[in-house]
Amino acid sequence: MTDKKKSPKRELLEQPKHGYSIISKSELEASHTFNEEYKQFIDFAKTEREAVEYSILAAEKAGFRPYTRGDALKPGDKIYQVNRGKAIALVVIGKHDVHDGINISGAHIDSPRIDLKMSPLYEDSEIAYFKTHYYGGIKKYQWVNIPLELRGVVALKDGTVVKVSVGSKTDDPIFIINDLLIHLSQDQLKKGATEVIPAESMNAIVGTIPEPDDDGTDRVKLAVMDIINEMYGITEADFHSAELSLVPAMNARDVGFDRSLIAAYGHDDRICAFDSLKAILDVKSPTKTAMCLLVDKEEVGSNGVSGARSLWFDTLCEDICETFGVPVRECFEKSFCLSNDVAAAFDPNYPQPFDRRNSPKLNYGLGIAKYTGSRGKSGASDASAELVARVRNMFDDAGVIWQMAPLGAVDAGGGGTIAGITACRNIDTIDAGVPLLSMHSPYEIIAKLDNYMSYKGMLAVFAEK
Ligand code: MN
Ligand code: MN
Repeated sequence: MTDKKKSPKRELLEQPKHGYSIISKSELEASHTFNEEYKQFIDFAKTEREAVEYSILAAEKAGFRPYTRGDALKPGDKIYQVNRGKAIALVVIGKHDVHDGINISGAHIDSPRIDLKMSPLYEDSEIAYFKTHYYGGIKKYQWVNIPLELRGVVALKDGTVVKVSVGSKTDDPIFIINDLLIHLSQDQLKKGATEVIPAESMNAIVGTIPEPDDDGTDRVKLAVMDIINEMYGITEADFHSAELSLVPAMNARDVGFDRSLIAAYGHDDRICAFDSLKAILDVKSPTKTAMCLLVDKEEVGSNGVSGARSLWFDTLCEDICETFGVPVRECFEKSFCLSNDVAAAFDPNYPQPFDRRNSPKLNYGLGIAKYTGSRGKSGASDASAELVARVRNMFDDAGVIWQMAPLGAVDAGGGGTIAGITACRNIDTIDAGVPLLSMHSPYEIIAKLDNYMSYKGMLAVFAEK
């Protein structure tokens, strides 16, 4: 047998390598430990508030302290600030404080879900239901006949906030938005997928036993309200000032005989949030100031006080900058933001809307997206060639396994992240994140290796010299 001829010119071509053919044994072990912790996080944090709660606990444990305007700051200080319980920034002041800008890793902690309406509880045909209004872009048919749990808060007029959680413990009841039986679905199945499940039919079953000591109407509704009142001390009107969501009552599980993947609810984008959080907790005395920014409302356009567009971010940066006598606009122009959001992994079951030559693959590492947007790059935030070069260099130096990660085929659809928002503040911004299968479904899929590489990537951002 003769060896195959191999021209030295081969070096000119990029040779993408499967992550498992290049990752070291020790890194594989580190990845395993990392992903076990991630599974605990993703089951704990099924809402943005819970992601903030987790982040505060982890931050306090790692020596971060809450920051308020005017607090003295010096290099090496570790601080955090919470925005209305739904967004958080964790900051490590660098050796050069903010004179050289801030290296930011930004992710969002809201995920698609089924919110309760403002007046959710009603009864029909002696079944009590919650009316819902879905949040974010979902295929509604994926959310019926799956176990759902209720999480969130109810704010009372006296100022107290009651935390609600039903369905996460094994002996808890769960809730279901039921679908029509197949036997009578002749008409339903002729409809297009967006109309198969009308949004106003997405009502969750919450009880069926009528109140025995009452002869009025809505006796099932009354009995259910009584149970809720006993559990949480609230009345029907309190639903008006609540943020209650139905989220999949399914916890993270390994997928496949080789356990290489994890299925869970809310990978988008709490997986990147976790990676950024872990990186800021682990970074050791950075040169530039490092910030992990976790924001809300990305799935509905990043608006509002807790979204990425909120001036809360600018105000926090301004407060920090003032301490060091640096105008915030000068800090921003020297800053860098890695918008850490999930990417669409190539799906062999549905190859058509992807470009095989321009799609990230599971197990090929952290996915970098130079730009996002849809059709002719509409709505895109496009990182400069120079910035992509800087990031390639940064990741290669840090031993991060990475790949380019455009979103599907041209004209197949599209999407965006918070990248455009930081970029508009004159902060050099690029997208990078973990490739995902079944994005926005109740049970999304990621590869463990890619998750670990995302963490390493964020650590490289924070540790940049
Ligand atoms: Mn996202
Ligand atoms: Mn999303």
